[in-house]
Amino acid sequence: MEVIERPNTEARERFLHELEEIRIRLSPEEEETIRRALAQRVLFTTVERMSQWVVNWARGNSLFPLTFGLACCAIEQMATGGPRFDMARFGYEVFRPSPRQADLIVIAGTLTKKMAPVVRQLWEQMAQPKWSIAMGACASTGGMYNSFAVVQGADWIIPIDVYVPGCPPRPESLLYGFLKLAAKIRKEKGRVYPWIK
Ligand code: SF4
Repeated sequence: MEVIERPNTEARERFLHELEEIRIRLSPEEEETIRRALAQRVLFTTVERMSQWVVNWARGNSLFPLTFGLACCAIEQMATGGPRFDMARFGYEVFRPSPRQADLIVIAGTLTKKMAPVVRQLWEQMAQPKWSIAMGACASTGGMYNSFAVVQGADWIIPIDVYVPGCPPRPESLLYGFLKLAAKIRKEKGRVYPWIK
């Protein structure tokens, strides 16, 4: 194979000379500064990790809660969806009418033993991946109702991701719970496509 040398034009000579000057002008400290700046700004990753991060980011910022409430806490949940508190700015405003379209259930209110099988069924009807929030003292621990009729915490029947304390928690608290859940989802690993084994 024949290698054709590029002609050494005057412009090229000048360019190479300038490059040499630039290199000489950099002190070791300056080179170190540039190296550190690159390390801070250039990201090395794998396609798998990057896709996991993108999927988690999208999931955490577009939760579809189920239209569902059990007691007084549900009133605060409704207020959270109203214009004053504006859940929409975080991407959570689309309360779904069917568990098959929802990926989040907020247990908002006192969970009685009579309602427990219904909540369990709703949870099982939701498609993977799915998350849950226990809103208020009653859903988290049974609250003040230490009685034969009340489930002493929604985690007796479904796994709970975030507990929001209060009686009732204010809409700001529920929003904080949503944001905590989004932060948790962003750290998830190995759940990109859970339906593919
Ligand atoms: S935590 Fe308080 S406000 Fe919420 S359902 Fe229980 S009693 Fe009602």
